[in-house]
Amino acid sequence: MMTYNISIIKGDGIGPEIVDEAIKVLDAVSYACGFTLNYNEYLMGGIAIDVTGKPLPEETVAGVLKSDACLFGAIGGDKWDKLPRELRPETGLLKFREAMGVYANLRPAIIYDELVNASTLKPEVIEGVDIMVVRELIGGIYFGQPRENDGFKAYNTMVYTKPEIVRIGKKAFELAMQRDKRVCSVDKANVLEVSQLWRDTMIELSADYPEVELTHMYVDNAAMQLVRNPKQFDVIVTGNIFGDILSDTASMVVGSIGLLPSASTGDKTAIYEPIHGSAPDIAGQGIANPIATIESAGMMLRYSLGEEAAADMIDAAIKRALKEGYRTKDLASFDAKKVVTTTEMGDVIANYINKK
Ligand code: NAD
Repeated sequence: MMTYNISIIKGDGIGPEIVDEAIKVLDAVSYACGFTLNYNEYLMGGIAIDVTGKPLPEETVAGVLKSDACLFGAIGGDKWDKLPRELRPETGLLKFREAMGVYANLRPAIIYDELVNASTLKPEVIEGVDIMVVRELIGGIYFGQPRENDGFKAYNTMVYTKPEIVRIGKKAFELAMQRDKRVCSVDKANVLEVSQLWRDTMIELSADYPEVELTHMYVDNAAMQLVRNPKQFDVIVTGNIFGDILSDTASMVVGSIGLLPSASTGDKTAIYEPIHGSAPDIAGQGIANPIATIESAGMMLRYSLGEEAAADMIDAAIKRALKEGYRTKDLASFDAKKVVTTTEMGDVIANYINKK
């Protein structure tokens, strides 16, 4: 029997509530498919500050690096917002991603038929949307040096090297090969030198993937096109800051933030997490939607463990729960037949796996 080591970081706010539901579903699917998951839990974010004084303890980095993959909830909250920047939970998260070398953030934006009405866009615009945003995660302006704020002048630096662009580009082309074979590279090459290098490198790289159609779009146009006609996109590849903004836009195209998973992958390990934050406003009330985290667990099975059948079972169970009209409070106004708590949603999805 295959055994995988999974590191678990629950984090703050709703993190523990939603991760517990994902573990419930993982237990059901691993039992059904005949493999074993060993979980090891680590601290990060606000809870790590409270317990250890640091947002990212060394044992978390070492433990996650040893594991096959990491399932992550969310971190942060008002309680820690007044701390100096280097001690804040969010700084811990940036350092964590850097330490894990997870340079590619994959964010699928898929519309569930049952929730077409949850989008603010018209059904005919979004029906059938299936986009994969591939965002470079550990380079660009968030990490570039020099950076400074002296109270009068402040600046950050947007840097990409050719190897950094090549590795994220390869990821995008390889994903496109498994999908509709179209990559749209998003940049701002009309004004930024760093974007010109990005574009030139993508064009060079595309020679290795003759079956994939490569197009280019300026980021301002891409933001507009995502809302105007999202179905035109298959894979979008872009840098850190542009991807941050565009992936949030893409997620809103499909409705609730509580539905969308993500994977952050690199050469050492991978982190799977919902795209939303720790939602302190609803923490502890049992109303958080666990689907994004359960779907992230499904991506972990597919992309890190190669357990495709198990991942398909999770997708099918989520679709069935939504089809049967189960909704957490965030989606209660969209064709709900039964409004359920976070735990009940986990139970329903896990039961559908058990029953197949
Ligand atoms: P958020 O994503 O936590 O919440 C935004 C809104 O969406 C809130 O109204 C929240 O209630 C709702 N929401 C989020 N997830 C939900 C879910 N699963 N089910 C139902 N509703 C959900 O963003 P925010 O309010 O800007 O940030 C809150 C905290 O989270 C901050 O400390 C922020 O720094 C942190 N954060 C962490 C991550 C991360 O850990 N990766 C990402 C983003 C924000």
